[in-house]
Amino acid sequence: MDVTDLRCFDIERGVILKRKKLIQMAVAIVGTAIFAATVPMSAAGTLAAIEAQAAAFDYHAVFDATFYAAAYPDVAAAVGSDAEALYQHYVTSGMLEGRQPSASFNVQIYMSNYADLQAVYGNNIPAYVQHYILVGMGEGRIADHLIPGKSLVSFESLGASTVKNVDLSAWNLVLVNHENPISTSYAPEVTLCANGEYMHKDVTPIVQQMIADAKAQGVNLFLASGYRSASRQTYLYNRKVNYYKGLGYSQEESEKLAATVVNPPGQSEHQTGLCMDITDASYVSLTENQENTAGYKWLYQHCAEYGFILRYPKDKENVTGVIYEPWHFRYVGVEAATEIMSRGITFEEYVAENSL
Ligand SMILES: [Zn+2]
Repeated sequence: MDVTDLRCFDIERGVILKRKKLIQMAVAIVGTAIFAATVPMSAAGTLAAIEAQAAAFDYHAVFDATFYAAAYPDVAAAVGSDAEALYQHYVTSGMLEGRQPSASFNVQIYMSNYADLQAVYGNNIPAYVQHYILVGMGEGRIADHLIPGKSLVSFESLGASTVKNVDLSAWNLVLVNHENPISTSYAPEVTLCANGEYMHKDVTPIVQQMIADAKAQGVNLFLASGYRSASRQTYLYNRKVNYYKGLGYSQEESEKLAATVVNPPGQSEHQTGLCMDITDASYVSLTENQENTAGYKWLYQHCAEYGFILRYPKDKENVTGVIYEPWHFRYVGVEAATEIMSRGITFEEYVAENSL
């Protein structure tokens, strides 16, 4: 393949192949939460804040009105059989009373099954429900029975949530994916970084330092692709649409097919200037085999020190919606990167947690 093809390869493979409808919904909710942030995080931990947080989220994904009315005759007697009235009861009081919204979801069982969630969410009940809707369901986590070996834990025995006060509107924490596109007029200030590639002006010196540090340790990195403008993305996308039209597909069919291999404009993270395709200089193919190179191993071990994360990890396709890409690294800042890489979570999960 020629150089142009190489540089486009990632977006042409950066496709949503197996995204579940539920995850689309979940990430859409995350996106909404970012921009609509209704809960003042500074007040997190107080009962008023938790109640406000509970009320601001859409819990319909775990709510079954028929189940709820049958399980709690006292509630049905008080609010009647109207599904929305029952839902409102769950959101405003039932949830915090520990009531179960459907046969498939019991918050205490969910919490008891997962020590990793207990460590983060403590006794914040709505946080567990939101995590299940945003991430847990997509990961196939279990919320209707105790996993063998687990025993029921009480919320009273747990401390407060340790989710930190993270400003998701910060420039380095913008989430871009198919459900959260950025405007095609979004054009960050970029500077020349390496190999003729540009990066966000504040990230360029960090990448240059990273490449120099790796080299000093005997590892040669190759910056294959950095910033891509919206117009470049539009060109690549339209070129692919025309390719399919040339094969005889209709405009609509061609657009659909093209979107499976090239991110439509606004949906590529490369438009932020915050991410890059970076490989070992001795093996520049953007394939899974990249993970076996010294370059990848060095990046995986050290990227967080520079504020970068592996954006599309292995076995997280159902969360990110993108195939494993051991060459695509994204700048999020040292604090977020350290947490994401040390816990082995995705950026989508990090954003979801901090939207709570
Ligand atoms: Zn990429």
